[in-house]
Amino acid sequence: MYDIIIIGAGPAGLTAAIYAARAAKKVLLLEEKSYGGQIIDTPSVDNYPGIIDMSGFDFAHNLLIQAQKFGASIKYEQVLEFLDDTTIKTNKGEYTAKAFILATGLKRKKLGLINEDAFIGRGISYCAICDGNFFRGMDVAVVGGGNSAVEDALYLANIVKKVYLIHRRDEFRAEKFLLNELKKHSNVEILLNSEVENINGKENLEDILVVNTENGEKKKLNVRALFIAIGLEAHSQFMEDIIDIDENGFFVSHDCRTNKENIFVAGDCRTKDLRQLTTATADGAVAATYAIEYLNSHK
Ligand code: NAP
Repeated sequence: MYDIIIIGAGPAGLTAAIYAARAAKKVLLLEEKSYGGQIIDTPSVDNYPGIIDMSGFDFAHNLLIQAQKFGASIKYEQVLEFLDDTTIKTNKGEYTAKAFILATGLKRKKLGLINEDAFIGRGISYCAICDGNFFRGMDVAVVGGGNSAVEDALYLANIVKKVYLIHRRDEFRAEKFLLNELKKHSNVEILLNSEVENINGKENLEDILVVNTENGEKKKLNVRALFIAIGLEAHSQFMEDIIDIDENGFFVSHDCRTNKENIFVAGDCRTKDLRQLTTATADGAVAATYAIEYLNSHK
């Protein structure tokens, strides 16, 4: 029996493990893939207070070492379901714990281009705030028609030379206010009814081919970055009969608590306004502290 099982070893889950293990709780982290979450795709973390420049991988690796130093253990297994309030089933076995912290993160949706994965960190990005700074003064493109894409384009318009905003329809999902703000920027060009057909480059991204789906016209854009903002996917299905999940798949939380008293949530997977590295690690600390309080009051 563990005290706390943390599902997901991104920055939120790893921080929760540090706090819980430091409080002398028996902690198990369960991670489906590799530790680190989305941050390992970031070449340089430079907006985390106190860290001037560090690769996302090194940042995540330090968190893991820190969590293990305090006694947390990690297993690479996929959580399949909760069997009851204290037991979960993975693809390799069953584990019991008194409390759980869900830190399953989010996956940015991919466009599905042939060489998309190969260019991640070399021009393909799913986070303008994290990576925009690397493309200061250059031409970049954003794909998507929701709030995220328009916010990304707005953010980038202030730091890059030119932003192409590529959207597959002629109407945006994004709020009018954001669109009006975007239109004030003379270095933004909006391409409607347009799709990215392919991305090219040797070492780094050099250009993308965009096709107009109305007239079939193709256009090569010499951009150094393509920011993909076509929505997010949560990993919450395995919990849908257990805790409240909103219409976008986020775990409904008030301050990292859920509707189950022994289940807490941390990081991008929960309902919140700002999804950043700083807020993920902060959530990890908050969720672990509530879990510790729960354990101490249910001895
Ligand atoms: P979203 O609202 O679901 O928009 C995704 C956009 O990507 C849509 O315009 C969609 O096009 C397009 N898209 C989806 N799949 C595509 C594909 N395969 N190829 C090309 N385009 C594709 O996602 P989001 O912008 O990430 O926002 C997620 C949620 O967070 C939303 O509820 C949003 O309002 C919220 N959010 C709020 C704020 C804010 O309030 N400031 C900021 C960011 C996000 P179609 O329109 O044609 O389907």
